[in-house]
Amino acid sequence: AKQRGRNNLQFFNPIMQAEASRRASIEADLRKAIELDQLQLHVQPQVDHTGRILGMEALLRWTHPDEGLIPPGSFIPIAESSGLIISLGEWVLREACTLLDEWAQSPETADRTLAVNISPKQFRHPGFVQTVLTLLDESHFDPRRLELELTESLLVEDVQDTAERMRILGERGVRFSLDDFGTGYASLGYLKRLPLFQLKIDQSFVRDVLTDPNDMAIVSTIVALGNSLDLRVIAEGVETEAQRDRLLQLGCLFYQGYYFGRPAPAVRRVASA
Ligand code: C2E
Ligand code: CA
Ligand code: CA
Ligand code: CA
Repeated sequence: AKQRGRNNLQFFNPIMQAEASRRASIEADLRKAIELDQLQLHVQPQVDHTGRILGMEALLRWTHPDEGLIPPGSFIPIAESSGLIISLGEWVLREACTLLDEWAQSPETADRTLAVNISPKQFRHPGFVQTVLTLLDESHFDPRRLELELTESLLVEDVQDTAERMRILGERGVRFSLDDFGTGYASLGYLKRLPLFQLKIDQSFVRDVLTDPNDMAIVSTIVALGNSLDLRVIAEGVETEAQRDRLLQLGCLFYQGYYFGRPAPAVRRVASA
């Protein structure tokens, strides 16, 4: 495969070549980043309509020695296409479980959920289910506190396999959210066959929910769908009080976004001297 990749380079134009070498250097650096402790989980609160924090979403951050903070949107796709997403995803899951174990030790945080983004390639990997089960065995927190955020693409291909994996992890207590809901092409019929816990309304529908009647209609429709399938519905990308109020009017009771808190490093308990 490497050989073929190299031969293909001769058909690239200079811009494509620059892009290809940028990707190759990010990939090499990312490989090292895991060992060199350059990765960090940030967390962002998820709240109910009273403002109470129910949990957090874990968002990966990479502090590159030369380039500074690289947003996940620029390296996750590279990790996915190179296969690195498997070890990277495992690192994220391990960190998430460590954090959940810490939260479990204190009454104020013991009920909190932590949502972890799972890339389709990671979810499909043969070892994925066992990796999660082993991490849960090694952890002490209630597995219902762990949420996995999946994307609609998993519902399009090989639904049977997706459903089986979700069932095994679901029996262990793990909960599933469907991320970026409304942007993909999920067949709605599959929604009720999968053991889902929550739909996440994509932030593209929240952005103009005050001004765009189509977005209002989409939000109402997703809320109605969630209600009829007994799924919780959360909106992401909520930046203002007015957006939150409108979402509440439209029946959406759970929110995440800058208005409630930006992603920030998880506060770790420091052993007291
Ligand atoms: P996502 O899962 O849809 O995460 C939400 C993104 O929206 C995050 O971007 C978050 O910082 C941002 N966000 C949160 N609230 C607001 C808001 O009020 N307004 C706006 N404009 N944006 C908001 P981030 O952290 O850059 O992550 C981008 C994407 O990278 C994520 O999108 C997710 O798909 C992926 N990602 C992040 N961490 C991981 C990870 O550990 N594993 C995998 N596989 N993917 C990850
Ligand atoms: Ca997400
Ligand atoms: Ca999302
Ligand atoms: Ca997204």
